[in-house]
Amino acid sequence: MSRRGIIHMDLDAFYASVEQLRRPELRGRPVIVGGADTGERRTQVRRGVVSAASYEARVFGVHSAMPLATALRLCPEAVLVPVDFRAYRDASSSVFAVAREYTPLIEPLSLDEAFLDVTASERRFGAPEVIAATIRDRVFTECRLHASFGVATGKTVAKIASDLRKPRGFVVVPPGGEAAFLAPLPLRALPGLGPATERALGGLGVRTLGEVAALPLETLQLRVGRSHGLSIWERARGVDESAVTVPGRPRSVSREETFSVDIAAREVLATRIAELGADVAARLRDGGWTARTVTLKLRYTDFETISRQHSLASPTQSDTTVRDAAQALFDNAWTGAPVRLLGVGVSSLDEFAQLDIFSQPKDGTLDSALDKLRERFGRRAIRRGAGAGLRDLDWRGDDLRSLSADEDD
Ligand SMILES: [Mg+2]
Repeated sequence: MSRRGIIHMDLDAFYASVEQLRRPELRGRPVIVGGADTGERRTQVRRGVVSAASYEARVFGVHSAMPLATALRLCPEAVLVPVDFRAYRDASSSVFAVAREYTPLIEPLSLDEAFLDVTASERRFGAPEVIAATIRDRVFTECRLHASFGVATGKTVAKIASDLRKPRGFVVVPPGGEAAFLAPLPLRALPGLGPATERALGGLGVRTLGEVAALPLETLQLRVGRSHGLSIWERARGVDESAVTVPGRPRSVSREETFSVDIAAREVLATRIAELGADVAARLRDGGWTARTVTLKLRYTDFETISRQHSLASPTQSDTTVRDAAQALFDNAWTGAPVRLLGVGVSSLDEFAQLDIFSQPKDGTLDSALDKLRERFGRRAIRRGAGAGLRDLDWRGDDLRSLSADEDD
């Protein structure tokens, strides 16, 4: 009997909740997120589908993937909001940042859903259901978002459990209780069991997972195929040893900015380097990685392009370390000629090993505080000045002329 601790976390009506969070006037109202911001509602409606609907809209029968026109017919009083991925990605990374404090073993399934393996975290943070409850409470207090949780010894049961009592569901299936938990559930509760399989099993009079589990394996395989049959048979009994797979670590992370007017002022270029460095460092913290190499890319008016690299004494995910290394490379390489493009990148990435909270570098705590502020008020709302301390923080709201970002992960 597996004694793994697997959590499935799924934010409730995520896109719509983020919209209701940042626009208080939408709270408690039917909100439909869908279509691009064409500035022209008729086009948005004509071409769009529902990406997410708030629970207030769902009671009218609105659901995701439905054509917007149909949704607005079902719920004419709904507020239609265009999709804003940057806002959802920012919100998502704040939630994942909380989860990552309890385990590095996180398998994101989308911006709002993930499996967490907390088996190795029990000694430090308590039983899996305690960790899930802690994450649930912190995601609400720190990110103002609700999520549903399923806790079990395997991914299949954890996912079915978190789906069962949405919104704000919290279902724990104890070790050994998987088969009994699954038995009364309809076939469609099993992820990966589609309408064709449902029909095929219906022909055998099989309607619940318990009935599938009771079937002889050969009978099932004859009906739906060897490997599909085996996978359904095992998972309907709660057997699922599949690992929580952490997405591959990228080889490098970088940010580039092409200026609409070339810049020759050293201070302005230094500020851009600081901002690009902060973005890259935030991405490292987001992914739970550190980097050992910093790269600076410089393109002049005549398109001459140079890049310089520096290996750090120790791995980092700190804004100031990345900034200072990039600035030093710049100071050594820059000829003083006007600059058309600047890029800051990091490579030789590794998993961030949090030894213990006391060993976290001083500016680490400031970095994570900055991360929270940026998530709250937007990536550009606050930045570091040239120095390192709190006094050097600069609160501002201007928007950049153009920002091209490439992330080869
Ligand atoms: Mg969700």
